[in-house]
Amino acid sequence: MAKPATRVDKIPPYLFARIDKKKDEARKRGIDLIDFSIGDPDIPTPKHIIKSMRDAVNDPKNHRYPSYEGMIEYRKAVAGWYLRRFNVKLNPENEVVALIGSKEGIAHLPWAYIEPGDVALIPSPGYPVYKISTLLAGGKPYIMPLLEKNKFLPVLETIPESILKKAKIMFINYPNNPTGAHASEAFYKKVLHFTKKHGILVCHDAAYSEITYDGYNAHSILEFDKDKNHSIEFHSLSKTYCMTGWRIGFAVGNADAIYNLGKLKTNIDSGVFQAVQYAAIEALSGSQDCVAEMKKTFQNRRDVVVEGLTSIGIRVDKPLATFYIWAKVPKGYTSEGFCEKLIEETGVVATPGNGFGDEGEGYFRISLTVNEKRIKEAINRLQSLKL
Ligand SMILES: *Cc1c(COP(=O)(O)O)cnc(C)c1O
Repeated sequence: MAKPATRVDKIPPYLFARIDKKKDEARKRGIDLIDFSIGDPDIPTPKHIIKSMRDAVNDPKNHRYPSYEGMIEYRKAVAGWYLRRFNVKLNPENEVVALIGSKEGIAHLPWAYIEPGDVALIPSPGYPVYKISTLLAGGKPYIMPLLEKNKFLPVLETIPESILKKAKIMFINYPNNPTGAHASEAFYKKVLHFTKKHGILVCHDAAYSEITYDGYNAHSILEFDKDKNHSIEFHSLSKTYCMTGWRIGFAVGNADAIYNLGKLKTNIDSGVFQAVQYAAIEALSGSQDCVAEMKKTFQNRRDVVVEGLTSIGIRVDKPLATFYIWAKVPKGYTSEGFCEKLIEETGVVATPGNGFGDEGEGYFRISLTVNEKRIKEAINRLQSLKL
């Protein structure tokens, strides 16, 4: 048999293998698992969005290859949503590109900008795709640690000059997965100033921009890069409209970056099924009541989880955004050790923080994608835990 390419060999081993094994073992013992490890909303896609997909599926014109960059109607819907939501004007012709989920765009962007040996600045803990796609493109990830004492924001001043010379892109992600942290206007301005000075393209992953609580509204980086000088922003319909399975998102921002990402994509994929694009147009342009309702559901769950964790002596701050709770493991445990104990003794599954990078060691992540009744059941079980 042929040997796989070294670029595939270089992909770090799957970190959750041990936890998956523990889950399997527990299931075999007949334990009813309550799984908080899945970053995928359990709430169905709103009905009006499904209906527009159903109508579009019946139209043969949607059965053919879609346009690579996304239908102009979809790109206009994105621009309309941006203007209403962030008061940022986008040219749908050259500042918007459709993505087959934002993961696809994030994974391809380094291929458009990174030469072998170039550096990408990557947050850790973080969404694993930033680092892996950099490695696949032959680039060198430079880790920007996100530490609690810095509110999970990178400290740009600590990045060495020699790294900055080779850095082409920087990934940031706020509201943040896995920490639940959010970023201020001042932070975005600082990042833009810093990256401009060093000729770096900023790639902002805004997958959770709409999952916010207690009156907090997240920013678009384009609010502060008004001329779209050197930033690109990734958005997803997955989390906002509970559409993870539909595979649609978009990138917006600097026209060159959108062009280069699009050019690469035309040689790899053939766009998003038009019926899905019509559903996404309905999602972005229709009533946003479904988003408000979903936020209410997650906010209630957040409160129950935070109260529950506090009651067993695990102190956590209430995040203002995302559907994740990022908590410190009790003293004396590693991330994996604690998560294994949880499964074995209570059937509750959380994600070990080190799965998001070494800087996540000492933490675990709870996803609020479990209904309130089951959350309460999980908390009851946690009360019996001897820490
Ligand atoms: C879920 C997620 C994405 C990807 O979402 P898609 O379904 O591919 O649109 C991107 N970034 C982060 C941080 C996520 O959690």
